[in-house]
Amino acid sequence: MVEGKNENSKQCNFVCVNCGCDAKRLYQEYNKSVIRIEHCDYCGQVVDKYVEFDPVIIFLDALLLKKQALRHILLNSGIQSCWKFTLVLLICETFTKLLQKSHVPSSGLSTNKVDWQEPDHVIYSAMEWDLYKYFILSLIELGSFLFGMTVWLLLWKCFFRKDADLPSASVLLQGLVLSSFGQVCMLPMMIWGLQEHINVCHILCRIFTFSANVQTARVLCPVWSFGVSLVSVLFGYTLSQMTIQQLSQWLNFKDIT
Ligand SMILES: [Zn+2]
Repeated sequence: MVEGKNENSKQCNFVCVNCGCDAKRLYQEYNKSVIRIEHCDYCGQVVDKYVEFDPVIIFLDALLLKKQALRHILLNSGIQSCWKFTLVLLICETFTKLLQKSHVPSSGLSTNKVDWQEPDHVIYSAMEWDLYKYFILSLIELGSFLFGMTVWLLLWKCFFRKDADLPSASVLLQGLVLSSFGQVCMLPMMIWGLQEHINVCHILCRIFTFSANVQTARVLCPVWSFGVSLVSVLFGYTLSQMTIQQLSQWLNFKDIT
């Protein structure tokens, strides 16, 4: 299957998904049914094999955090409507926090038996203040993470003068938001039957999201080594967690952190 790309795509800057070098185009279209896949001038391989792949295959490769799939999605496909995914991400994070709160034992006794509430409770929670409180906190958490990554990117540009090999802040932030899709998986796992292993699921989702963020930073910022990408994402996460903890203390939200 060939993805639809308009005439403007010919003027865009594509990259080879194998080596990351620039490419003028992904394919040449002779007519509606005949195209010729371009080969990279540097490595000689097909510039973007994913233009012929089914979206399911692309998604599975992205789940495996393959650099080629991430380059195709983040650099060659053109990121559109990122704000919609951001909204979905925030809503999922909000309900996850809400369900985690209801997962906490209601009594003050130290017991492993939890007072899990039915999923119906989530629907009626729309009329609760907690839902909006958690949404704002999720927004601040994501915002502070992205702010930390922006600061890191600008500092790198400022001190190392490698602007040509680094993306704009907006491209990096959109990529990081999209690569946080692992957090979306947390909500269905909590609703459909994994309540007993909620902490394990949460840790696994966090680890996957963190790994996806690091891999995205490596794809979008080729001059960053694995170590630099790891430290940059750690910096963003640390800043967001410090912000949330500080905010929780100021507002006396004891059930957030
Ligand atoms: Zn190449």
